[in-house]
Amino acid sequence: MPAYNLPPEFRTLATLPERPRLLVVDDQPINIQTLYQIFHADHEVFMATGGEQTLAFCRDNLPPDLILLDVVMPGMDGIEVCRRLKSNPALADIPVIFVTARSEPADEVAALAAGGVDFIAKPVNPVVVRARVKTHLTLKAQTDLLHSMVFIDGLTGVANRRRFDEALQIEWHRCRRSNRPLTLLIIDIDHFKRYNDHYGHQAGDACLQQVAAGLKAGLKRAQDLVARYGGEEFVCLMPECDHPAGQTKAEELRAAVAALGIAHADSPTASCVTLSIGVAVMQPSSANTPEALIAAADAALYEAKRNGRNRVSVSADL
Ligand code: GH3
Ligand code: MG
Ligand code: MG
Repeated sequence: MPAYNLPPEFRTLATLPERPRLLVVDDQPINIQTLYQIFHADHEVFMATGGEQTLAFCRDNLPPDLILLDVVMPGMDGIEVCRRLKSNPALADIPVIFVTARSEPADEVAALAAGGVDFIAKPVNPVVVRARVKTHLTLKAQTDLLHSMVFIDGLTGVANRRRFDEALQIEWHRCRRSNRPLTLLIIDIDHFKRYNDHYGHQAGDACLQQVAAGLKAGLKRAQDLVARYGGEEFVCLMPECDHPAGQTKAEELRAAVAALGIAHADSPTASCVTLSIGVAVMQPSSANTPEALIAAADAALYEAKRNGRNRVSVSADL
């Protein structure tokens, strides 16, 4: 086991999925049949006979782990399908192996330039296609694991600052396009220096882990993100969340962590660990910036501290 406190969804990524999900795309059913025979025993095999169907499948379902893609198809060809997959951030990481009878070097170059990871000639050799698929599934699993480690805070297991910075940019632009509000909470543990001084640094670390877990448990929507922003500060980023909802959520999180009842004998505020939370809500537009959202939440946090801690304060800058 690595020393990192990885959340369960990341723990399995280093190993291959038990039954990897393959999408086989070919306009000729006989070719699909051949690949189905090769893979169906230990893979979940899905099929599509055209470009549009492939894109729709990937958009509307849990995306496949890998795609075996024919190049020449009526309508949208495989190269265009691959380009479109690669231009969609949610689908861009799916490895695409081209399977084609066209094996001129120029065809291979075009396929790789479109974002394919590999190129296999038809008629397929079962041993070769199995080996290549396994290689690319393994590479993908390892890349996913590395990615998750780069974006996770080692102490608490929640997202780290880097992940938050990236998510803020992405959600800002997404909410700007969809004309929906974006809410940010900045959460700071009250009198944490005293906690460390009283109970020791290791107990302080354990406290940070409990608070992080409490925050994570309190955020139930898949699009909400909790991250460690630094030291004893956390942030929650909540897309499509408006002002009353953001304030209510902040109050719930504050109460949930107080209810953990982590003793804090040296706190002038309460007998247990408490949080101060600054809330800011913005409608992303050209008139404001992600940095302004952070500044507004930070100012609200300062207000919460100034007004006595263990409370939620909402930015006046709405
Ligand atoms: P306030 O109520 O105003 O927020 O006071 P505070 O004591 O919480 O704030 P201050 O910023 O003065 O102190 C934060 C403390 O958090 C100081 C630092 O040693 C501690 N800290 C930061 N990162 C860690 C960590 O990873 N582990 C532990 N145990 N302590 C940490
Ligand atoms: Mg602080
Ligand atoms: Mg603090």
